[in-house]
Amino acid sequence: MERVRQAWHRWWAGEERAAPGLGELLLSRYPGAVMLLDEHGVVLQVNPDFERHAGHSPDQLLGRRAVTLDADPLHGGFARALEYCRASRQPWQGVVLCRRADGALRHHTTMIQPLNERPASPLRLLVIQYDVTGMRERELHDRQLLARLGDTVSRLPGTMFRLRQDVAGRLELLYASEGLVTLTGLTPEQVMEDAERLLDLIIQEDRRQLEMALAQSAVSLEACQLEIRLDLSDGLRWVEARARPQRRRDGCILWDGLLIDVTERKDEEFKVRRLVVTDMLTGALNRRAFFEQGGAVQARALRHEEPLLLAMLDIDHFKALNDTHGHAAGDLALQAFAATCKECLRPYDLFARIGGEEFAVLLVDTTPDEALTILDRLREAVGAIELEVEDATLRFTVSLGLTTLTPGGSLEGALGDADRALYRAKHEGRNRICGSSSVSSVFNDADPA
Ligand code: GH3
Ligand code: MG
Ligand code: MG
Repeated sequence: MERVRQAWHRWWAGEERAAPGLGELLLSRYPGAVMLLDEHGVVLQVNPDFERHAGHSPDQLLGRRAVTLDADPLHGGFARALEYCRASRQPWQGVVLCRRADGALRHHTTMIQPLNERPASPLRLLVIQYDVTGMRERELHDRQLLARLGDTVSRLPGTMFRLRQDVAGRLELLYASEGLVTLTGLTPEQVMEDAERLLDLIIQEDRRQLEMALAQSAVSLEACQLEIRLDLSDGLRWVEARARPQRRRDGCILWDGLLIDVTERKDEEFKVRRLVVTDMLTGALNRRAFFEQGGAVQARALRHEEPLLLAMLDIDHFKALNDTHGHAAGDLALQAFAATCKECLRPYDLFARIGGEEFAVLLVDTTPDEALTILDRLREAVGAIELEVEDATLRFTVSLGLTTLTPGGSLEGALGDADRALYRAKHEGRNRICGSSSVSSVFNDADPA
């Protein structure tokens, strides 16, 4: 190898330039077709391996015009390139389609070099070709594969993306597939230019979750997965984001991942969850959900040091109503009762059916005074219900027991207190509210249990 290098240097320095005959070496070893043409494009000389590479025997080609090789001798690329070089005396380089003697079409990278060193001497064209058909076919195959892949990606029920976070924490979308348009109405170009356009659609609470998930994933280099809500012009849409991170040498983090619309799945989930937690007849929370959600409400009230009140409600003489008008009428009464209660309560109060005609309410961030006002209005509203059934008009009343949930007390314990107050309300004539000792101060006629 070293000897070859030295020989090359000596040749380059001019010491042995006459000796090895690089020209012949190149001609005899060049893996392609080489031709020397006259000014009319007629072939004067070809290299020894010409037939193998061009697919035409030299005998047939020498003395004929080189455009014979062109797949389209009149208008083909080779014909045009030869004409250009002949007219402009400028070199040309490109890929041309040629036809072998057996009819096979081959792509050749082609260099045409006009040899016109001396103005007086006739023009000669040196043509050097190299068969790149295999390469072209592979390229074509790759391109078709890419196009198919692009097509598949564009039909995914979501978006593929590559997200980059630089060392300063800035987020940039390097890639988003076409599915983004269906998902968000934004084009990949828009979000690649400014990632905020997509991030802005995420509702604030979920954006904080996303930022936390990305921060964790950037440190642990573990995949992150979360569900986020997009606030779109046609409403909220749930999107599941899954991405795998990699750290780059420059300190950037790249996430490759998918955004998938899971709105329908979430709607189903919510529907099922609602069925699980609600009472079918009245739509109020069921007993189990009341205790589950009540625990969370109690914990939050404790954290924020907010007062929390609990009321038990029991319809008066409901057995008699059932016995007189039938069970179906009783069901209607229960539904009307629950609807009226919900109208009188605030959306964040927990209202549950915890027994046959017994209900409970957790009044959030409410003082005993406020609770009494709300519940008394509710009691009056229930008393004003008139239900037309067959020949009769149904009317009924409700009795209530009220208590406070103490910071350390249990929900069950408070229900017991409220139940005792309710018992007193029944005992004192029904259609009234009684309070436990913890709320006695707001009852003028208080006789706390
Ligand atoms: P009080 O004023 O003392 O509360 O009297 P009451 O008749 O309401 O008391 P009691 O608890 O004895 O009766 C409750 C009745 O509620 C008994 C039961 O038949 C009826 N009930 C329980 N669940 C349902 C239901 O889902 N539908 C109907 N229609 N009735 C029910
Ligand atoms: Mg009862
Ligand atoms: Mg009752």
